[in-house]
Amino acid sequence: MTSADVGSVIRVSGPVVVAEGLPRTRVYNVVRVGRRGLVGEVIRLEEGHAVIQVYEETSGLQVGSKVVDSKRPLSVELGPGLIGGVFDGVQRPLPEMAATEDGPYAEPFVRRGIEVPALDRSRRWAITHLAAVGDEVGPGDTLATVAETAAIEHRILVPPDRNGTVTRLGESEVTVTDPVVWIDDEPVTALSVWPVRRRRPVGHRLDPLAPLITGQRVCDTLFPVARGGSTTIPGGFGTGKTVLEQTIARHADADVIVFIGCGERGNELAEVLEEFPKLVDPTTGAPLIERTVIIANTSNMPVAAREASIYTGITIAEYYRDQGYDVAVLADSTSRWGEALREVSSHLEELPGEEGFPAYLPSRLAEFYERAGAAVALGEEARQGSVTIIGAVSPPGGDFSEPVTQYSLRLAGTFWALDPDLARRRHYPAVHWTRSYSLYETDEWFDDNVDPDWSEQRHWAMELLGRAEELAGIVQLLGVDALAPEERVTFVVAQMLREDFLQQSAYDEVDAYCPLEKQAWMLRVIRHFHDAAVSGVAKGVPIESISSGDVVATIGRMRRWPDAEVEDRGRQLIEQIDSEVTT
Ligand code: ADP
Ligand code: MG
Repeated sequence: MTSADVGSVIRVSGPVVVAEGLPRTRVYNVVRVGRRGLVGEVIRLEEGHAVIQVYEETSGLQVGSKVVDSKRPLSVELGPGLIGGVFDGVQRPLPEMAATEDGPYAEPFVRRGIEVPALDRSRRWAITHLAAVGDEVGPGDTLATVAETAAIEHRILVPPDRNGTVTRLGESEVTVTDPVVWIDDEPVTALSVWPVRRRRPVGHRLDPLAPLITGQRVCDTLFPVARGGSTTIPGGFGTGKTVLEQTIARHADADVIVFIGCGERGNELAEVLEEFPKLVDPTTGAPLIERTVIIANTSNMPVAAREASIYTGITIAEYYRDQGYDVAVLADSTSRWGEALREVSSHLEELPGEEGFPAYLPSRLAEFYERAGAAVALGEEARQGSVTIIGAVSPPGGDFSEPVTQYSLRLAGTFWALDPDLARRRHYPAVHWTRSYSLYETDEWFDDNVDPDWSEQRHWAMELLGRAEELAGIVQLLGVDALAPEERVTFVVAQMLREDFLQQSAYDEVDAYCPLEKQAWMLRVIRHFHDAAVSGVAKGVPIESISSGDVVATIGRMRRWPDAEVEDRGRQLIEQIDSEVTT
């Protein structure tokens, strides 16, 4: 380090600090500020001064405090040991940090300026070498594997900027900083470092055509998100964003889950931390934490680090995508990041744009959503992986016209609109069936892989729900008797779709997760009921008797059918409908 890399503070404004005396620093370099060495990032250079956003509480910093340039951009450590980890916005491991202070999660959340490496330096990993001495290797080729958890085989890859000949192999048990191999006599370790604001390169991108299965009927059947796509979940306070994000974190059929708790209440995240190690993945039998990385930057943690938490999370997701995994990134909530941008921008005295947000809000959101994707990774193996983004948005007052919601829905391919009236009536998930949409063309996938009737049933349900919405206006004015018999059937069946199909309790042991086959059968039964009811009323059977029969009650209990019995029970119920409703 030379004196040119040590400057001093000339101004402090909230999380923003201006420093002089750093003539060689660059935008996005990490700096350490003050006696405690608070972590900051240079975000602008102007008139010979470095403008720095500090990712920790800045109280106590003064004019003259020292600023040391690390000469490196804000980066994350990548390697075995990430899975199961809980990190803050700048990837410091929270449990290890908690152990170094007076009490875990004390206020301020973590002691400032603390330096704990993200990945444990002492842990030893048994590795299986896949490369041999003399092999020619290039970016993305697999050098070795490590059983990171029961569910995740970690692939140690040739970094994107390296190639050459393997000249030597390392030990069969290594720490993350020991060489795994030498390429042209230069060591390659399991640990690599990547700047968070830069996308990791892929071989080539793929069109996202398969869905990410969430087990939530309203999401999978009506508004699927593609594997490698993105969805935005706007909803006012209490409409169920956090419950939906957490339910998906538990049940989605992704290999790796990156959960970013961004600016929301700490107690909610504490629940996640408490719960996840105890939860078991029904498909692998492994604890869910063995496929999960948690980034925690809760409301009591420094505002500026919310941005870092988003980039840290997405970079870790890309790293596992490159190993050939399907990764889901859940961010709760991107609005808190937007608010952090606004706060930092106001301290920078930038010209405010819409609703006080900086003019670069849309480009920042785009940089995030554009990192979703399905891809063939670099390397000889042509591994496929994906990053799917599921971002909650918390519009103030539930008003979707505000900028973060508006820009997010332009960027994401799926829109799950949470509706306050539905939440008030305890219709959960409160995803509105006419305002939400999915732009992904996944119908063919469902028809080919789940049920040949899938897309036809899906379109039938959407159309019927839409028609019932129109009829609701007439009913409100003139009463239900104003409807023609067939319209009354539409009305009854729409209610059935809403209450018996779209509603799904996250807290019901059986119903919290609904496999696709069950979703298809539930819809098939309801549609069969509809068709039977239409021919029943045509023959003069009164709608009242149709809508109060036994079968209606049984349809209301389908959600609790054990998965293994769905097909048998579905067939039986269809027979019962044929004998009871049509006649
Ligand atoms: P938000 O994050 O949008 O403020 P929450 O996710 O915390 O809202 O949800 C608020 C409350 O709504 C929850 O505590 C729960 O009681 C109820 N709720 C939300 N979603 C569901 C669901 N899928 N099943 C059952 N209850 C739900
Ligand atoms: Mg919430």
